[in-house]
Amino acid sequence: MAAPGIPPPDLRTEPASADRPALETSRRLATWWPGIWQLWWERMAGIDAIREAGRRRFDELVRHARAHSPLYCEAYRGLPQDVRIDQLPVMTRSALMARFDDWVTDPGIHRRDIDRFLEDRAQVGERFMGRYVVWKSSGTSGESGIYVQDSLALDVYDALIAVQMSAAGMAAHCFAGIVKGGRAALVAATGDHFASIASWTRVVRAAPGLAARGFSIMEPLDRLVTGLNAFAPVYLASYPTMLTVLADERRAGRLRIDPSVVWSGGEYLAPAAHADLERAFECPVVNEYGASECMSIAFGCPAGWLHVNADWVIVEPVEADHSPTPPGRPSHTMLVTNLANRVQPVIRYDLGDAVTANPERCSCGNPLPAIRVVGRRDDVLSLTARDGAAVRLIPLALTTVIEEAAGVHRFQIVQRQVDALALRLDIDDPRRRSRVFGAAAAALRRYLDAQGLPDIVVELDVSPPVVDANSGKLRQVVRERDSRPGAFTGPASRGRGRARMRQR
Ligand SMILES: [Zn+2]
Repeated sequence: MAAPGIPPPDLRTEPASADRPALETSRRLATWWPGIWQLWWERMAGIDAIREAGRRRFDELVRHARAHSPLYCEAYRGLPQDVRIDQLPVMTRSALMARFDDWVTDPGIHRRDIDRFLEDRAQVGERFMGRYVVWKSSGTSGESGIYVQDSLALDVYDALIAVQMSAAGMAAHCFAGIVKGGRAALVAATGDHFASIASWTRVVRAAPGLAARGFSIMEPLDRLVTGLNAFAPVYLASYPTMLTVLADERRAGRLRIDPSVVWSGGEYLAPAAHADLERAFECPVVNEYGASECMSIAFGCPAGWLHVNADWVIVEPVEADHSPTPPGRPSHTMLVTNLANRVQPVIRYDLGDAVTANPERCSCGNPLPAIRVVGRRDDVLSLTARDGAAVRLIPLALTTVIEEAAGVHRFQIVQRQVDALALRLDIDDPRRRSRVFGAAAAALRRYLDAQGLPDIVVELDVSPPVVDANSGKLRQVVRERDSRPGAFTGPASRGRGRARMRQR
């Protein structure tokens, strides 16, 4: 811990340097510990200091965006220099992506170059222009997003998770495991430039001696379990839906790993599911709530809330007209401001998630503001194989198959029977709908075959995707109750969902 009276170092005050890959390790070693130290220092000083740090960073970010992003310069024209956050216009993914080259603050970044970079999947986690990490996301809004992260942002994300682990008393577990030659496993969508795998690859490259391996969520479960058993990770990271399935495999005695710490992220993890994962893996589970637009928004606490990293993120629960939603009530959506990333400012960005802010100080004692994500999630599906065995499929694997094959984001996979799936597409033109369905069904067919499910029927449901009546959100993977007796019994009845896909 820092000695009193010594000012904390800033995470990084100089502009992003053109890091060469060979310098990556030494640069990260140089920034890792000061970053963690600064975060600790600020948080030790209490909630007022945290809020003050957030305010200072907000002012700096807005100044930077106005000076270097033509899009923000235009959007903020006429506003006072010391503008309040609620005076700023709300930004949407589609509006920002439509003017990508004007959005970014480095004039050397061009969409056409990024698209070329993203086409090459061998480059996942590599530095774009030698200095930035880039990832992409999809979403139910129908528009895919591309996010460029600068060095400061990456250092902040790393420091946030490190501090979270130490706060939860897990640092000793985690670092001791790694020092002992322990292994780290990520089970994720590995085939493309998604946030999880791109971040993971970056950290692994910068940490010599770390035995780490990425496993694909597309793999059949038995093969994935065999691979994890052979690798024996002490650190396991994945999405909540995948962890739920792996937890059941461990309970059944097939998954024989003994992790010291499990990280859950990329999707929302409900409090009950969090507790269930800790019981199943017999170790602490770090629950990080983030998005491609802002990797680390909040962390789960024992009281079931998500504590916002208020020193680096501003979260605003709002109504449909963007007026503030009072604490204790579910919002229509959430605006997020990522204070860590300067190269592609995310300011008052409509994230789409409905949240409820905790009106009181959290019973866990953490003074950081707390939220809960509202609404039902996508479902884990359970289909019956030829031999009668239940095969569970996680929603993110299914949506990835369709998005990659058919290039669509607004769709809905519906399971009504144990041996059939229906696909709803948000396409009015019957000919185009039929063409897209053909591509999606063929890819789904190949995926199901690989999972040992060659007999599952895949059909087109011509009705459009149906939004959830409670949340108003589109759930992409849904199990509808079957009227037939005995349908949806067995392990699938434990299926828990995920929040609207935010980050892969
Ligand atoms: Zn709490």
